[in-house]
Amino acid sequence: MTEILRADNLRKSYDGFLAVDGVSFSVRQGELKALIGPNGAGKSTCFNMLTGQLKPSGGEVHLEGTRITGRPPREIWRMGVGRTFQITGTYRSMSVIENVQMALISHHRRIFTFGPRAWKLYRDQALEFLRTVSLEDQADRPCSVLAYGDLKRLELAIALCHRPRLLLMDEPTAGMAPAARIELMQLVADIVREQGLSVLFTEHDMDVVFAHAHHIMVLNRGALIADGSADEVRRDPRVQEVYLGG
Ligand code: ADP
Ligand code: MG
Repeated sequence: MTEILRADNLRKSYDGFLAVDGVSFSVRQGELKALIGPNGAGKSTCFNMLTGQLKPSGGEVHLEGTRITGRPPREIWRMGVGRTFQITGTYRSMSVIENVQMALISHHRRIFTFGPRAWKLYRDQALEFLRTVSLEDQADRPCSVLAYGDLKRLELAIALCHRPRLLLMDEPTAGMAPAARIELMQLVADIVREQGLSVLFTEHDMDVVFAHAHHIMVLNRGALIADGSADEVRRDPRVQEVYLGG
């Protein structure tokens, strides 16, 4: 499988404290990969270095062979690294489909020129994205009345509008009930399979991770202690030590 993203010896120090200490890994095309590890292990710090939100203290990141280390977030996003944001990013008073239309218009950089025609054109496209996340029957409802799980689906649809090559999801199922978590990640897994998208996500619920991730990386105190298939990671004594409180 083609490598989409590669991180080499990535490091981040906060005032001398090494939150991420020499992490190397890759994400391949069509791969759903989990980054797990205890609280404070450095997962969000890693994500923020991949998206450009944080400048690495050392190391390099390549996206499909192009060095993106230290580039501004907007540029990295334009190059195809998407991320889901907490749903506060949606316009609560607008309808579900209007939020997706806004994302499409922004993606096509038509924000200053759009009129009724563009709006109509993007409505059809937006409906397609809502179908992808099974939200088409909620299209004309205001976001403010959506259930939490449906807002998460909307968040995913909005991220997909920007046609990412790699989608980063930091704790996408936070605040959800166990069954809803499995369901949301099942949806993500379906999209990965159908569209060849690559997804890197963090998740606390091990049932979700082992149910859906193709590969799992384990971060502990800023260092990767495992990177492999679910079976390899489950059997790894160092992982068991970290997770079973050894
Ligand atoms: P995780 O996402 O795995 O829970 P984080 O990447 O958020 O871990 O944090 C890794 C470590 O870096 C933690 O010890 C945290 O306290 C520290 N840290 C995170 N952000 C900052 C910051 N802006 N300034 C100083 N320390 C930070
Ligand atoms: Mg975090």
